[in-house]
Order: sequence, then structure tokens, then C-alpha cells
Amino acid sequence: MPIEVCCIGGFSKTEGNSVAIKIDEEVVILDMGLSMEDYIKYTEDREDISARSYTQLLKVKAVPNYTFIEEWKEKIKAIIPSHGHLDHVGAIPFAAKLFPTVPVISTPYTIEVLKTILVDEQMNIPNQFIAQKLNSSYKLSEKITVEFINVTHSIPHTAIVVLHTPYGKIMYANDFKLDDTPTLGKKPNYQRIKKVGKEGVLLLIMNCLYAHEPRKCPSEAVARQMLKEVMLGIDSKGKAMIVTTFSSHIARLKSIIEMGKKLKRKIVFLGRSLDKYVRAAERLKLVQFTKDVELVRHWDKVERIFKKIQREGKDKYLIVCTGHQGEPRSILTQMAAGGFDFHFTPGDLVIFSCQVIPVEVNKKNREILETSLRGNNVRIFRDVHVSGHGAREDERDLIEMVRPKHIIPIHAENEKARIVQEMATQLGFKNTHVMLDGQRITLE
Ligand SMILES: [Zn+2]
Repeated sequence: MPIEVCCIGGFSKTEGNSVAIKIDEEVVILDMGLSMEDYIKYTEDREDISARSYTQLLKVKAVPNYTFIEEWKEKIKAIIPSHGHLDHVGAIPFAAKLFPTVPVISTPYTIEVLKTILVDEQMNIPNQFIAQKLNSSYKLSEKITVEFINVTHSIPHTAIVVLHTPYGKIMYANDFKLDDTPTLGKKPNYQRIKKVGKEGVLLLIMNCLYAHEPRKCPSEAVARQMLKEVMLGIDSKGKAMIVTTFSSHIARLKSIIEMGKKLKRKIVFLGRSLDKYVRAAERLKLVQFTKDVELVRHWDKVERIFKKIQREGKDKYLIVCTGHQGEPRSILTQMAAGGFDFHFTPGDLVIFSCQVIPVEVNKKNREILETSLRGNNVRIFRDVHVSGHGAREDERDLIEMVRPKHIIPIHAENEKARIVQEMATQLGFKNTHVMLDGQRITLE
């Protein structure tokens, strides 16, 4: 059979996304993600990665298992991540070298994030990087052309990847929301998604992480409004204001800066991962935060900034820092534990512009952090946030736009994949395949 799919990671558990598609004698790998939960257990880090070996990480199940495609090894033509989140690209620094002659092809921000990670961690991979603009195509071989269609999510340059093959189109929509009023970048390229759909999609591989939620995911504009209500709506005179969010969520950071400017507070970004993702975005001229923001990455400079803040007055500053999941080594956790020359006083505001990612280690860490903040009598604002993931009704809309012959849900356990299967069946799409890591399927 001409097309075979190997579900490598993101099927038996939420993360570590990776799929291999064999088209005749050529293979493409879509995403090469870390399983963050297993990775954090091992390293205690969510937004940074540090040098480990693939074998070490495979043992703790933090990386996708490429022994599943051992006999395809010589046929691999490209590694194509869909966007720059670590559960989609984070295994590349460790695993891409298993296929040293294979290029990594993705959108410019995704490639920039990867390069930054490699430089920061002093890691090296032999693979060539190819940055491909959104809404453009790359001819990979005689038979395969790769297209990157713009879609909204919670990191810049997220793409729906389409493989155009002689046997039909394969669409990979792993992490998307359908946001018609994004606060950074363009809304999804519906026109192109529908056109590809009309031309005939053999297989749609789609994210099903929020299939259990019967709703449409609200726009990022809603998150901006929520931030506005807290940051501008609450009297913060004389109080410290501290915001923490996902470091790669450049659109969210943009809204936070906007509010900080309205408050006429000096804005400082504290922490390594914030520096990393912001600088990558600035290099590509996606944003120009540093004209309004001081980025502070190194620990000793962070110390100095806190001394300055204490001296000049806490309400002169807006502190944006790492620690949204209560990561033990993050700035916010250290601040709460008294690790810096910063003293909380009653009524200071701590705004969590994020959700707690529902895995044990995060729940536990956040509990410790919030307990310690409450001990200081600060005001905690939780969940000033909307998700970057479409929910069930977005998934339905995508299926109806694309009208695929086959569907494979990814990015969750089978329970959620079955919800997509049920919905697709009701819509008249009968071939939804609920897969496990390591399983293969042949398509016709
Ligand atoms: Zn993502």
C-alpha cells in the first residue's frame, strides 16, 4: 500500500507528539516533541531544556520512541514540526541526530526557537534547518510537497502542515484554535484550509486535547480583556504587580505590556525562558518588546533589579516573570520563598495569566507557591487566561471544513480520541482511527 502511518507519540498519553508517514519509499516525520510530564519529573523544568542524551530520556519515556520505525530509517526525508512548543519540537535536540542527514523544516519562529535552544544549551545537531514562511509550500521530492497553512494557537507561526502526495493530501493540525480576532498575527487561513479540503484530504491528523469540552475556545482578545479588567480595573496604587504567563505566549505578553504602559509602570521581564522566546520573536521582527521592556535573564542582574525596585517603589514597576506552574527554580517561586531582596506586603497583586497544566507535579508545585504567597497576604488572581487549544466545537468545524476520508486524533489518551470518533461518525465521517503509540495503519 502506498501510504502507511506510524503513530509514534501523543496517542497513549498527552505529550511527546510524533507521527511518521510513509509515502511509497519516502518517510516524513511530523513533530518530535518531549513528553513534558515525564521530562519535568526528570529535570524539574517546563520551559527550558538541558543537555541529556536521547537514550537517557527514552528510558524515562520523555522522548518519542523511534525504534518503532527502525526499518524506515534510511527512507526519512524530513522532520517537520508544526510549531515551537516543546511538546512538538523539544525532542529535536536529542532525537534529530538519529537521522543526521535529514533536514528540519518549519515556520521561521519555530526554527528560530530551536536554534536558540541549541545555542543556549550548547547543544549541536548535524541536521540542516529550513525556514519556510506561513502559507507557502516546499517541494520535498518528486512526489511530496509540504505546505504550511497559517492557524492560530498560543505561540507565533503555528501551522497546519499539509503533505501533498500523489495518493491524496495528509493534513496535520496538531495544536490549533480557530481565533477570528487574534491579538498578534493573522486569523486562520480558512480559505486555504477549505480549498485543500475540496481538493480531497485522505487523512486529517488532528489535536483532540479538549474534545471533552463541548464549547468553542474563546479568542485571545478575551484574554486581553480579562487582563485589562484585573490590571487596569483594580486599584494597585502603592502595590507590587506581578504577572506570570507562558514564556512562548508572545501575544499574551504583548497584551501585558500594553496594560503596563497604560499603568505607566516600568516593565521588566525576569527569567531565562522569557528572554529566550522574546529575543527569538524580536530577531524575526514579530514584535519590538525591548523598546518598552527591560529583559533580565541572569540571576545576579535579577538581584540588582529587585534592589532597584525596592528603592524606587514597587508601584513604579510591572514585574513579568517565570513561574506560572510554580516551577521550583523559577523567579516567582524564589521570590515567594524570600530568595531575593524583594518583600511582599499585604495587597500586592500576583496575576497568573495561565491555567495550571493538569499534571501532578504542576498541581503540587502551584499549591506550594500559592500557599507561600497567601502567607504574605498577597492578592492572587488565578486563570486570567484563555486556552490556545480549540475545544470540541472547533474540532467539529475543522472536520467539516476539511471533510477528510480518514481521521486520526492525536495529543491525548484514547478516551478523548473516542469523543472525536463519536462526533465524526455522527457527522458522517466513518473512518476515525483511535490509535496507540507504536501502532501503524495503512490507508487507501
Ligand atoms: Zn502547542
